Amino acid sequence: MELSIQLFTGSAVNPDNINTQDILNKLEMICDRTKISGAYIGWNKDADVSVIIDYLKKKGTDIYFWLPVFSELSLLTEFEPLIGIDGKKIEKVYDSGSDELFVFCCPANPKNVKLAIEVFEKHYDNGIYDGIFLDKIRYPSFIGGLGTITSCYCDYCCSTFDLPAENELLYTDIKNPMGISKYTDLRYEMAPAYQKLFNIKAQAVYNSLERLCSYFKGRGYKICLDLFAPAVAFFVGQDYHKLLELTDIVKPMLYNKTNAPAGLPFEIGAYAGSFDSIVENAIARRNHFTRITGYDDKDFIKKEIEGINTIIRQNGLKTRLHAGIEINYVKNIAPVTDQYIKDSVINVKEADGIIASWNLNTMPESNIKCLLDAIG
Ligand SMILES: [Zn+2]
Repeated sequence: MELSIQLFTGSAVNPDNINTQDILNKLEMICDRTKISGAYIGWNKDADVSVIIDYLKKKGTDIYFWLPVFSELSLLTEFEPLIGIDGKKIEKVYDSGSDELFVFCCPANPKNVKLAIEVFEKHYDNGIYDGIFLDKIRYPSFIGGLGTITSCYCDYCCSTFDLPAENELLYTDIKNPMGISKYTDLRYEMAPAYQKLFNIKAQAVYNSLERLCSYFKGRGYKICLDLFAPAVAFFVGQDYHKLLELTDIVKPMLYNKTNAPAGLPFEIGAYAGSFDSIVENAIARRNHFTRITGYDDKDFIKKEIEGINTIIRQNGLKTRLHAGIEINYVKNIAPVTDQYIKDSVINVKEADGIIASWNLNTMPESNIKCLLDAIG
């Protein structure tokens, strides 16, 4: 099983405190046991990680630049905004208390794809990378509530897509407002208007990624996509059936311990907490969701992996599946334990590789050792 690592160097404008020697020690600890196939590093524009990159290159590791496409780069340029169904601009969708912004722009508008490429060329394109790691290639999730899910209704989106009208999205069943009836083959069946909305989002994200990937492929870069776990990806416009053909490596974020965006418990909690503020209703929505998806079953992660592998196999794709699991430890946000790491490795054993996520800088050596032991 291949092993890769992620290293967060700070927001676009504020570099994180990175102790080069500390990172090198961790890398050496891994390299003593196994090869590091890829390193995903980003996205501060001034961080000096040249010593780390030199070390990895000598070890034969592919270096990917970690680019947050439709969020975070707004610190470096002005994107076309994301507009809600009420016609108003959607501002910050979540306050992480960290440097991450969680301000999304319209992921459908080709102007924003062009702007993201311009930002890459202006600030990051220094010729040292083997690949590009595309993150935040999505619409915002339920974390901003139903008001952010019913997006984007900007001029471009309204004139390009046949978006559902507000009255079509009204709901009566508060326990299952979107009428979700099935989760099969990594896709949902639900009430027609919601189905239509999510299908449009999936098409929009695919269109934008097709443009982005063709640009980076044309430049000779390998491509890795950072996607939500399939059961929540559908709600942000990421359809594995469409996206897998575009990429060399797919990294599903199978974060089952993370109480922050992209973490399964957090995203499912955000879905349950949307639509109204009555606790009993949120519990009922969560219960319905887990009944349909099997989220509470112990083989849930295994089935997500199996679903991705099935699509790859059925379409004869060469895409490699590298599961993203949390190995870092962040108090209250990612309280990763040894047992969790061991279970995760077993759950993803049918993947081609593991990406030790999401930040080598906050990864205790004890967690790295546990991971290496579990991989064997
Ligand atoms: Zn739009």
